[in-house]
Amino acid sequence: MSLLSRILNRVTPRSSAAAPAPWPQAPQSIRVSGGDGGALTIRAGWLIDGRGGPVRRNVRIVAKDGGIVGLWDASAEPEGFAAEVLPDYSGCTVIPGLVDSHVHLTLSGSADEEFRKRLRAASYESIRRVIGDHLQDHLNHGVVAVRDGGGTRGYALRCARGYSGPVRVCAAGRAWHREGRYGRLIGRPPGKGLGLAEAIRQDDEPVDHLKIVNSGLNSLTEYGKQSAPQFDLRQMSAAVKAAAERGLSIMVHANGAEPVRIAVAAVCRSIEHGFFMGKDNLARMADQGVTWVPTVVTMSAYARIFEQTGRNPDVALRTLDHQLEQLAIARLRGVRLALGTDSGSPGVDHGAAVIEEMKHLMQAGYSLPEAIHCATLNGARLIGGEFGLIEPGRPATFVIVEGGPSTLPEGLRKIRAVFICGIKQFEAG
Ligand SMILES: [Zn+2]
Repeated sequence: MSLLSRILNRVTPRSSAAAPAPWPQAPQSIRVSGGDGGALTIRAGWLIDGRGGPVRRNVRIVAKDGGIVGLWDASAEPEGFAAEVLPDYSGCTVIPGLVDSHVHLTLSGSADEEFRKRLRAASYESIRRVIGDHLQDHLNHGVVAVRDGGGTRGYALRCARGYSGPVRVCAAGRAWHREGRYGRLIGRPPGKGLGLAEAIRQDDEPVDHLKIVNSGLNSLTEYGKQSAPQFDLRQMSAAVKAAAERGLSIMVHANGAEPVRIAVAAVCRSIEHGFFMGKDNLARMADQGVTWVPTVVTMSAYARIFEQTGRNPDVALRTLDHQLEQLAIARLRGVRLALGTDSGSPGVDHGAAVIEEMKHLMQAGYSLPEAIHCATLNGARLIGGEFGLIEPGRPATFVIVEGGPSTLPEGLRKIRAVFICGIKQFEAG
């Protein structure tokens, strides 16, 4: 957080006439496979391809023109590819580039309320730099795409439209919530006299997806307390239809049985958080193909902050346990799950939180390849990305981690290299 504090102290508000500051550049961005017809070969000690199946040993990955053209046994010498062989990665594990399916780029993981307040009031130019740092934090942990869940001033969307860095940013702009209910910190209500669907139709912000808030936050003092839905089924179904007319999907913030039931019945794209949604909703989600983004790490972060500050962490810990139980049911029931951290929430740091969230999935019974499947292919599906799998025909977008699979997910702190569409973003010394 000290880095962010330094940035906020350093940056003085600019007049609108001032030239915008350049985006921070990813270090050592090296084109190793471009449009020159050159190919590259990676000898992976272990490969986790993103499908959720078993780990493969000693695989030769060949990429050309930014895409994967073949996977062979490491000892094979495939013909027809005069490939540049990259440094020896035979002691490394290769996984697809990760997707964090729920972030708030304008917020930081600091638990310091004063600091969070300053961030919320900071100028666009300051926030733009903060977002640049957050995106670098994501890349440093192997995250190549993020799905932003909204901010009160829509700065992440504004930034995303001018950003040409390596991490793909999909942004909701400002979320929609009902007047007088939770959501002011990440969005706005429909304008006076407008219904939700009407407001969505009239809005012309260039968003990548929509975010609707349909419940309150989880209580951290009263275990299992549920809040009433913000929108009913008729309103939510009309919103899904209005979004579809604009070619957009909807991510719905929903905790508790009734808010989730409405969002699932309206067949929104994903349920965000879903604490205390219950077994029936999990079964409906599996049947309807609605994705769940459980953001478990938010609750372990609250428990940790409470322990550190002398507050009672019991409700947060019990809520965490309940969410892990729901995850175990979701896995058995075949609910499609995408990993999302809600980074920017107190104690949830951009990039690093992916490691904690993956650990939570594994605590609930997901194998490492299954957890990686949630953090790659299922996230890519939510944002319509071609990446998320290491197989021929897909972009050569992958993360190379030191050591074997047993070092994961912790090993994401020691990334050897990240490639995006065949372009090496960095190589650790
Ligand atoms: Zn969120």
